[in-house]
Amino acid sequence: MAFSASHAEILGRLEQAVIAHLEDGWVAEPHAARVALLVRDELRRWTQTTYPGCTAEGAALDPGSRRRLSLTIHSAPVTHRVEVWGLACGDEKEPLVPDGGHVAHSWVVVAHHGERCRNLEAREAKLKGAGLKRLDARESPRLSLSLWMGAAAPDGCPACLAQQ
Ligand SMILES: [Zn+2]
Ligand SMILES: [Zn+2]
Repeated sequence: MAFSASHAEILGRLEQAVIAHLEDGWVAEPHAARVALLVRDELRRWTQTTYPGCTAEGAALDPGSRRRLSLTIHSAPVTHRVEVWGLACGDEKEPLVPDGGHVAHSWVVVAHHGERCRNLEAREAKLKGAGLKRLDARESPRLSLSLWMGAAAPDGCPACLAQQ
């Protein structure tokens, strides 16, 4: 599973992938959606390369959103649920609260286009309030990335496994 490796290394890879492709021929995606998609793609690629045999399936966390994505990683016998949240300064439309029923066994990657700001900090406070713990973070002038974990995340999600 991706997050059993070095968190700093994972965030470094994600940062590189996002910054390399952030301005690649996008037609209409806002920056928040671009960072969410790029983070999820790189996470999936890296997971499948590092753990051959696991499956990683992407979906929208909610059908009306392009900024909130999910990745379900099945690496027998455990299924991990990852939420990827794309945010951008000046684009504060969507709330940052993980799905209540899954919070305890979810991993969350927050990818914010731009430097840390008060909106990002307010959203992070909500994640803390929901019981998630920040494992690591990485900052650059163009991107702020952080990785969060619910208390039961390492054990995976029985309900998510049943849906496979
Ligand atoms: Zn901001
Ligand atoms: Zn679940």
